[in-house]
Amino acid sequence: MNEKIWLSSPHMGGTEQKYVNEAFDTNWVAPLGPNVNGFEKDLETYLGHDSHVACVTTGTAAIHLALIIAGVERGDDVLCQTFTFCGSANPIAYVGATPVFIDSEEDTWNMSPELLEEAILSGIANGKKPKAVLAVHLYGMPARIAEIEAICKKHGVFLIEDAAEALGSTYKGKKCGTFGDLSILSFNGNKIITTSGGGALVCRDAETKSRAIFLATQARDEAPHYQHSEIGHNYRMSNIVAGIGRGQMEVLDAHVALRQKNNDFYKEVFSTIEEVSIFEEPNSDFISNHWLSAITFNSENMNRNREKLRIFLLNLNIESRPLWKPMHMQPVFSGAKTFGGTVSESLFERGLCLPSGSNLTTSQKSSIEKAIKNYFS
Ligand SMILES: *Cc1c(COP(=O)(O)O)cnc(C)c1O
Repeated sequence: MNEKIWLSSPHMGGTEQKYVNEAFDTNWVAPLGPNVNGFEKDLETYLGHDSHVACVTTGTAAIHLALIIAGVERGDDVLCQTFTFCGSANPIAYVGATPVFIDSEEDTWNMSPELLEEAILSGIANGKKPKAVLAVHLYGMPARIAEIEAICKKHGVFLIEDAAEALGSTYKGKKCGTFGDLSILSFNGNKIITTSGGGALVCRDAETKSRAIFLATQARDEAPHYQHSEIGHNYRMSNIVAGIGRGQMEVLDAHVALRQKNNDFYKEVFSTIEEVSIFEEPNSDFISNHWLSAITFNSENMNRNREKLRIFLLNLNIESRPLWKPMHMQPVFSGAKTFGGTVSESLFERGLCLPSGSNLTTSQKSSIEKAIKNYFS
């Protein structure tokens, strides 16, 4: 049996340990220090557009803080893409707000701008304008985020861009992570770059960054003693973890290129398999980092389907994973108000993510190709 081929495993560039060792050598073993500042600076330079980055413990924590900064309070409505990972939606519950789920479009798999506007207008008509919108770029594919941004501006609704999967992607030439009122990134173990676990808020100005750091460090007032006028959180990134991030930034572009190459590989493999479509950019406005390459079966009722393919691959020690199960289908969010729903339900039924790590070897790729060709023969 071949060694397990993972969906997306950590891929170190080589200099990470140098930064971690520096932290030990200088005794910056704390949730602050030169690596945290350095990693933030690297991200700011990479994203451009006058970005101000605050690093925190996880992407989920970043969304929690983003909702607080947006002024979301108990009882408010937050419009959230239904087709996503629970890390997008759970923080809405942390602040006591109510998630209202919005379905995706067929081509980007992300939030439909039409359904979003319908939901905002419906809220306004019912005397309860939504407090914030949470849009996601799934698998690295940009949402129609400029259109979503324009709708939010028009109606005065705060936009949080969940770019956890989209570092390195662009929409209409602008980097994901620079749209909306606030963006978030994740550096979890399986993401495009990893710090083992970590996240960031990307703010549009220095004041918001200060506010994010204040909230992430127990909301400590300026005083020699410990004094607090509001509830804070302990979410600041560790200087050890940030050292890994600095090393990963040196290989980000190379790793994005490798993921995009993986996608070209799958396009080739599936070019003759007509019952399956590969997820690709709708047009040249979109550049995906192809964090994960994904396919859909073109029909739900076939002898061959995504679950059978998943198990077939698993038996060959190849990991694959169904697409995200929409939030409105999750038991924990049952009964939540939802606009649309059939697009994401069908994607979940038909779709599968394939091994996509930037560290996939040529021999692993040929094992995958052989397995797929066998399955469809
Ligand atoms: C990974 C992820 C998150 C959460 O990030 P963590 O760092 O794992 O907390 C949020 N949203 C999406 C879309 C993600 O993929």
